[in-house]
Amino acid sequence: MLHITNIQKKYQLEGREHLALANVSIHVQKGDFVAIMGQSGCGKSTLLNIMGFLDTATKGEMMFLGEDVSLISEKKRAEIRKKHIGFIFQSFNLIDELTIFENIELPLTYLNIDRKERKKRVLEVLEELSLTHRTDFFPQQLSGGQQQKVAIGRAIIAKPALILADEPTGNLDSKNSQIIMQLLQKLNENGTTIIMVTHSAQDAGYASRIIRLFDGQIVSEKFQET
Ligand code: ADP
Ligand code: MG
Repeated sequence: MLHITNIQKKYQLEGREHLALANVSIHVQKGDFVAIMGQSGCGKSTLLNIMGFLDTATKGEMMFLGEDVSLISEKKRAEIRKKHIGFIFQSFNLIDELTIFENIELPLTYLNIDRKERKKRVLEVLEELSLTHRTDFFPQQLSGGQQQKVAIGRAIIAKPALILADEPTGNLDSKNSQIIMQLLQKLNENGTTIIMVTHSAQDAGYASRIIRLFDGQIVSEKFQET
């Protein structure tokens, strides 16, 4: 599904080059649940952002759903991203001025899906996340755990093939972390491919593969039973 080969990311900092990623190759198959671990600053977010076309590599190749995405235009990449990739971030990144309903609805609006179909799908997702009683609330009126559930709703509403999650439980207590991880697990069991950056060994326990980064390079990869 997603193949990245010899990805390099260089930053220029005060005239000096900094290598955030060096020759990283990862092959993700449909249905995989990959955890990416490693100490702060080792390149995890940079890697995840490149895999979701939020950032571009300075070198390397990338195939997604059979298409060479290193060659296509930014516009086409944005289209593929909207249709096939959902993002979840540590700090939820909800839009405070929009209601819970509107936050979850947004990706469908971008995909030009009509109002009636949008409403139907959002109500289904709210039901699935047990958030129906919070439909007209605003993000700041919810707990962190509930906000991350909304972010998951927004990530899955367009039924993406791939979910990218950057420390999705990083701001949550252990009870809410478990709720979020169980939601991700259920999505994965239903066929969604997940790539998740995490610091938590407990969260990584939900993954079928653990990739460890150190200083921008993969240092180990382990497969595990879940
Ligand atoms: P992690 O998510 O593992 O904590 P990051 O991917 O955020 O690490 O960062 C990897 C390295 O790249 C760090 O040394 C960081 O300082 C550097 N870096 C990240 N983004 C930028 C940027 N926009 N400009 C310069 N350096 C950056
Ligand atoms: Mg990070």
